[in-house]
Amino acid sequence: MRIPLSGPDITEAEIDAVAAVMRSGRLSLGPKLEEFEAALANYVGARYAVAVSSGTAGLHLMVRALGIGEGDEVIMPSFTFIAVANAVRFERAAPVFADIDPSTLNIDPAAVEATITPRTRAILAVHTFGVPADIEKLAAIAAKHQLILIEDACEALGAEGRGKKAGAFGQAGVFGFYPNKQITTAEGGAVVTNNEKLAARLRSLRNQGRTPTGEWFEHTEIGYNYRLSELHAAMGIEQLKRIETILARRMQIARSYNEQLHVCQQILLPLSELADGRISWFVYVIRLAKEFSYAQRDAVVEAMGKRGIACGRYFAPVHLQRPYKVEGCSLPVTESVAERTIALPFFNALSEDQIDEACSALRECVEFSSCSKKAMKSATQL
Ligand SMILES: *Cc1c(COP(=O)(O)O)cnc(C)c1O
Repeated sequence: MRIPLSGPDITEAEIDAVAAVMRSGRLSLGPKLEEFEAALANYVGARYAVAVSSGTAGLHLMVRALGIGEGDEVIMPSFTFIAVANAVRFERAAPVFADIDPSTLNIDPAAVEATITPRTRAILAVHTFGVPADIEKLAAIAAKHQLILIEDACEALGAEGRGKKAGAFGQAGVFGFYPNKQITTAEGGAVVTNNEKLAARLRSLRNQGRTPTGEWFEHTEIGYNYRLSELHAAMGIEQLKRIETILARRMQIARSYNEQLHVCQQILLPLSELADGRISWFVYVIRLAKEFSYAQRDAVVEAMGKRGIACGRYFAPVHLQRPYKVEGCSLPVTESVAERTIALPFFNALSEDQIDEACSALRECVEFSSCSKKAMKSATQL
């Protein structure tokens, strides 16, 4: 693809930091891990951060450390990445999907309340595409029904709601640092919390159930190897130093897209302003108007691809994926939104020229596909 969907933003500072770790002889469980965790906790406004090998590992440890398991139900969106549901399944608990708000694309608090049963243990709020979930309402529901409120903030580093940062609202929050995220450690993740005991348990679980004071071959419980190496942590430290510049750049790209696309009636723009908070732009996802079919959306994505512009289908709902397909699970908003979304190229180094090109190509492909079936066919041949 001439214009990729995403791409990491690596500077000489990250390269130097990683090289210095390689020369230091200390490759795991060293000072870089501690420094990265302290910087992340400080940025998010949580007391503790425990870095792990991926966002998925973070989700798994969070679920396990909170004692969520067999017989428990966890309410979550289906309009998200499958790892959210998988992490709950790893512990034999049951994901229960609630529908979303069509404007924020986040879990709808009314739908959450409607899915509560005597087995519900937790609400897992996902800050989808960097837009903070309606935490105030979710926290009230959690308190009323004595549920654990946890967050997947993997797409939302730096997002804010009512003066607090995403990840620091609930009992614990998870971040991911895969290369398409706002900051990357190549692979990596972290769990943040204000709970000291929970943090200690997370540290033990990521390191084979060891304790910080015990012997290397002393294990107090069954744990995992979910450690983040010193190389990855060093990369994360440098990336996190630039977070505000990165978020400002991403907001600027979103604005440029908005300016060029708002004239096109067949395209619905993403939510771009919050009454009391800040979006941390993860991806730029538009939605085609209601009259567009699933097939037409796919034709547009394909036609863009033929022009060398990579687009994504964010998200394919989790409840429609094979491991989660159950009879009678219907989430009309999730399904209708997911059929018409298109993620456009979105990364820090995206130039104004590339944005222009992506926007004019998108407008052409969309107009073509909305004219007639025949035109749709030729749109895919562009
Ligand atoms: C990226 C992401 C994760 C974590 O993914 P990893 O690849 O395991 O780091 C988890 N949840 C959501 C919603 C994500 O977008």
